[in-house]
Amino acid sequence: MPDVELDQVTAIYRDGTVALAGVCLRVRDGEVFTVVGPSGCGKTTLLRVIAGLEAAADGRIRIGGRDITHVRPSQRDVAMVFEGDALYPHLTAAGNLRFGLEVRGTPPAEIDQRVGAESRVLGLWSFLHRRPATMSAGERQRVAVGRATVRKPSVFLLDEPLAHLDPVERLRLHRELALLIRGMGVTTILVTHDQEQAMAMGDRVGVMREGRLEQVGEPSELYLRPATTLVASWLGDPPMSLLSARLEVDDDGTWIVLGHHRLSLRGTPSGSLRARVGEQVVVGARPEHVTPADSSAPATTRAGTSIELKADAVQRRGADQLLICTIEGTGSLVARAPNRTTVKAGDKVELVVDTAHLSFFDPASGAALWHGA
Ligand code: ATP
Repeated sequence: MPDVELDQVTAIYRDGTVALAGVCLRVRDGEVFTVVGPSGCGKTTLLRVIAGLEAAADGRIRIGGRDITHVRPSQRDVAMVFEGDALYPHLTAAGNLRFGLEVRGTPPAEIDQRVGAESRVLGLWSFLHRRPATMSAGERQRVAVGRATVRKPSVFLLDEPLAHLDPVERLRLHRELALLIRGMGVTTILVTHDQEQAMAMGDRVGVMREGRLEQVGEPSELYLRPATTLVASWLGDPPMSLLSARLEVDDDGTWIVLGHHRLSLRGTPSGSLRARVGEQVVVGARPEHVTPADSSAPATTRAGTSIELKADAVQRRGADQLLICTIEGTGSLVARAPNRTTVKAGDKVELVVDTAHLSFFDPASGAALWHGA
């Protein structure tokens, strides 16, 4: 399968809106690449430009090394599925799957074989002979995916394909889709609002902002080493807590000052962070690195590593609980607690912060200064 390459691609709508501002990206052969980012950042436009449904104002697009920047959509060998993709209403599910192959003159025996295989993978058998009006939204969505993939495109583009489904159906279909895409081995770009889906399905993830790719990397790399506060605040459930802090140094070491609270910074910060001593920084903490203190441990062992805060809200989630604590003038710190924790909203709670795992960002640009272990 070919790779997809975008070289400084810009897209501008008629009214002057710059939807893509010089995007550079190489999606590798057979890779599943997911794109996340705030509403309006250009995700859909990115797919539409690759499919040829919008023209690139500048830059080049290549598929398998072939420059397709000005090639007609039908000649690109790209299949796109978008949210609420309309099926042909007068055709059955099977008819919808067969149509594109028949138009291309595929031999009937091969059509039967491909439609059969697709129906097995996507579980379409029970409604293969029904028309779209009599199917559920999830069933219609599965047929839309089948209709695109049965053509065996070189590149598969999916735009929020599961967005309007209920959470249970979405999770199930999300697994099926992941299996289907992996099985096809087709180079795939999937746009989603759902960061969990992006992390679970993508070999690599791209986070977009204002028409540009802010960071591209493997899910764990983006999670552990976000390049900016935007990436930090987009990935993770809940995302990283971002707090305004000041760095101080004294004879006892380096301190993170959060309002009236102080935490001792473990680990050896790099030069770019040491240069910020005495200045404001943004400190990022993942919820799993903030946990209620074990009250049986001696207070001396907790000195410098824990702070006492009021839990403003407690969110029960089954396996664990989230304690949301506001630190005046700095932001909200979210802690992850075991589900047996009995803290209630309004209670004081001592939280241990694993400062060896914190991230630090520049408050003006949002760029990462240093990531802990
Ligand atoms: P969402 O997550 O809300 O679907 P998105 O990230 O997919 O958003 P796009 O739909 O690509 O974003 O839109 C990018 C920018 O282009 C936005 O500012 C949007 O308002 C604008 N835009 C999209 N379509 C058009 C259009 N047809 N004409 C003018 N501007 C448009």
